[in-house]
Amino acid sequence: MIITSAKPFEEVLALLKDEDDIFIVGCNVCAAKLKTGGEPEVLCMEARLKASGKRVVGWALPTAACSVRSYESLVEKNAAIKNAHCVLVMGCGSGISTVAKLVNLPVYGSNNTLSLGGKSEGQLLSELCVLCGTCTIWEFGGICPKARCPKGLLNGPCGGAVDGKCEVDREKDCVWALIYNRLKKIGRLDLLYEVHPPREYALK
Ligand code: SF4
Ligand code: SF4
Repeated sequence: MIITSAKPFEEVLALLKDEDDIFIVGCNVCAAKLKTGGEPEVLCMEARLKASGKRVVGWALPTAACSVRSYESLVEKNAAIKNAHCVLVMGCGSGISTVAKLVNLPVYGSNNTLSLGGKSEGQLLSELCVLCGTCTIWEFGGICPKARCPKGLLNGPCGGAVDGKCEVDREKDCVWALIYNRLKKIGRLDLLYEVHPPREYALK
């Protein structure tokens, strides 16, 4: 899941200060789950823009803003997009980019894209993966130090960890403490004896 947060409405309004005849595209997957671009948020955005004097010509909620088949498929959802002078996408950067590829109009985004994370047992899990291009997460028990150690240490912990907390942010667990506990739980402490080569940044 792509983790997004909604920009303050005033910021969105400022983005659209020279625009009118706005068409809104939501996202019914990640953004809907995070309440940054599902139907209730799209309707709320439409109402607030209208209340601020903006003309909103319509909206559409594709299954995923990052997976829209074609411009015609947006027209199928709501032909009012033909009357639009700009599009506001309530998804992640990938959704904004996908829609921008399909429409010959200025495209804006109402969200900030924060990280690749997840949601489980009601808990939002952020920064689970940094899309390194060479996944080896199973060597760390399913907890990625490339994403979750501020120093990206693949052979941790560093000397700054104290009582299982990270020296960069004492509020957070040291990811290497989490990895140790996880490997112990699954009976794979042997993996800690592996020495991992530095991450290959050139692959991305
Ligand atoms: S190793 Fe970590 S950063 Fe790389 S793809 Fe796997 S989870 Fe993502
Ligand atoms: S304390 Fe742990 S998580 Fe923090 S920088 Fe050091 S190894 Fe990484």
